[in-house]
Amino acid sequence: GMPVVAVVGRPNVGKSALVNRIIGRREAVVQDIPGVTRDRVSYPAEWNERRFSLMDTGGWEPDAKGLDQSVAVQAEVAIDTADVILFVVDSRVGPTATDERVVSLLRQSGVPVVVVANKVDDQRQEPEIASLWSLGLGEPWPVSALHGRGVADLLDHVLTLL
Ligand code: GDP
Ligand code: MG
Repeated sequence: GMPVVAVVGRPNVGKSALVNRIIGRREAVVQDIPGVTRDRVSYPAEWNERRFSLMDTGGWEPDAKGLDQSVAVQAEVAIDTADVILFVVDSRVGPTATDERVVSLLRQSGVPVVVVANKVDDQRQEPEIASLWSLGLGEPWPVSALHGRGVADLLDHVLTLL
């Protein structure tokens, strides 16, 4: 079947906004309030004539079991399913303890992971993302899902991993 690219990260980092930007539609639910659950999480996507399935793991966002567990479940689903994982971090917040926990799962998985530093709406914010190298997952890619900034470069890179 089609290669799968999964989008993983804490609530509110902009996973759904990034999915919408990549698929060119507004199907994934973008919300200020975390915790939106939907039944549909995979979308057909295409970049430079390469087709792939884009999975928004936001469907596993927090429930009674708590944030750490729900993000860990997202990561496990992505690890089992995906050919490439986009690990989205809010560049304005930086890596949190929840992020660190997911990162160790991702690093052990052997699945290629791309660190996406979202909400870099302005070039002046780019130096701030250097702290994301500390995650040990390689180069952080600055994007603004909201404005589209950096998304083309990100997708060019993702295709090299598919
Ligand atoms: P998710 O919970 O990870 O799926 O996050 P959402 O896509 O629902 O976005 C959460 C919030 O962050 C919403 O208010 C979005 O408008 C906002 N957001 C998402 N991407 C960006 C971005 O690139 N820049 C800014 N400034 N806000 C963003
Ligand atoms: Mg979402």
